[in-house]
Amino acid sequence: MDLPAVAVSQTPEAKFREYLASRPKSQRFTDQQRDMVQYIFSQHHHFDADRLIDDMKRAGFRVSRATVYRTLSKLVDAGLLRRLELGARTFYEHDYGYPQHEHLHCDQCGKMIEFQSPAIEATVREVCREHQFQAAGHTFVIRGICAECNRSRTMKRRLDLI
Ligand SMILES: [Zn+2]
Ligand SMILES: [Zn+2]
Repeated sequence: MDLPAVAVSQTPEAKFREYLASRPKSQRFTDQQRDMVQYIFSQHHHFDADRLIDDMKRAGFRVSRATVYRTLSKLVDAGLLRRLELGARTFYEHDYGYPQHEHLHCDQCGKMIEFQSPAIEATVREVCREHQFQAAGHTFVIRGICAECNRSRTMKRRLDLI
């Protein structure tokens, strides 16, 4: 389930080029980086670096692990991707052109459910105002067991009792 996209004035590729050009040492936009940006922005996902590397290789792209890791952190820096820390794992997802939202993460099946909450956003704004804190973003992940996994756990428990 994807949330509705937010209108943006530039393509992710153009925004990334602009970011690279604005670095102190202007950086080149390489073919591998272009492939990555196009691939990542062709679908909304929560992915980690290993999954991205596997998926891109399967889709026929040549990608090096080092380039993927370096480019992912530049994409975060450029405001295109958002990083989600989940225990020891780091996930990424679109930030540019995608609305602010929060997550429920199922520890059992790994499913990530997105939701939007005006109440949470209002609280974040209020807390920041109290601390005179200029927020650059936030990540809020609720961990637990999703409805489907919960149902199958209950079923299994019932079967064990029979
Ligand atoms: Zn689940
Ligand atoms: Zn998300």
